[in-house]
Amino acid sequence: MRKKIVAGNWKMNKTLQEGLELAKEVNSKVKANHAKEVTVVIGTPFIHLSEVSKVVDPDIVAISAQNCATEASGAYTGEVSAAMIASTGSRYVILGHSERRSYYGETDEILAKKVERALENNLEIIFCVGEVLAERENGKHFEVVESQLVNGLFNLTAEQFSHIVIAYEPVWAIGTGKTASSAQAEEMHAFIRKTIAGKYGQEVAEATSILYGGSCNPKNADELFSQPDVDGGLIGGASLKSDDFIAIVKARQNH
Ligand code: PEP
Repeated sequence: MRKKIVAGNWKMNKTLQEGLELAKEVNSKVKANHAKEVTVVIGTPFIHLSEVSKVVDPDIVAISAQNCATEASGAYTGEVSAAMIASTGSRYVILGHSERRSYYGETDEILAKKVERALENNLEIIFCVGEVLAERENGKHFEVVESQLVNGLFNLTAEQFSHIVIAYEPVWAIGTGKTASSAQAEEMHAFIRKTIAGKYGQEVAEATSILYGGSCNPKNADELFSQPDVDGGLIGGASLKSDDFIAIVKARQNH
């Protein structure tokens, strides 16, 4: 059975003190509703990672970084390596977020290197894919997502691929308040699963968790999670308030 996952992406929000408060709140609220079948992850800024890992119970809330360097170590001023992330107790890293792709020029080739570094350091990867609005309007969304999967991930072995979680995040839905309909999400998630099956076989595809991201909130989470191929969510804005985030975790528990 594949994992059900609700992962928060705090992006560049919260000072260290605010982040610690939020992490403590999330930890205690998840603990109070603990349902082992949902994996809860919080993706914090780099500087929060080691402190946050001291205030959450790793069996209750897993910690994720939002990026890692392409290189293992050395003279790369300002970069943070996958080994450094792992050394804080973080278990996950989000790679390929559309904000990284568009604002920081992260290509599929760059992302493939980051994926390698993360796997070398035993991190689980939440790998984001998704089309921009013009690509959807031109009917290119399947093609775009397929090429992001093929170029970013399909050089991996099946064993390596078992450490990948996919997050389908239509760029037009991120931070816009415009959510993909549950039918649009399901259609793309089923396509992603079929594409994975074509490369790695049905068993691997069935075991891969595919999260939806893009203005997911306590009101629409239930409907999105009712879809058979939507295994959970990657949550931006709504992960910054513990009550909203927990409401989404509960929506995932209920299915
Ligand atoms: C995200 O950026 O990963 C995201 C899903 O953001 P939001 O929920 O704010 O749309």
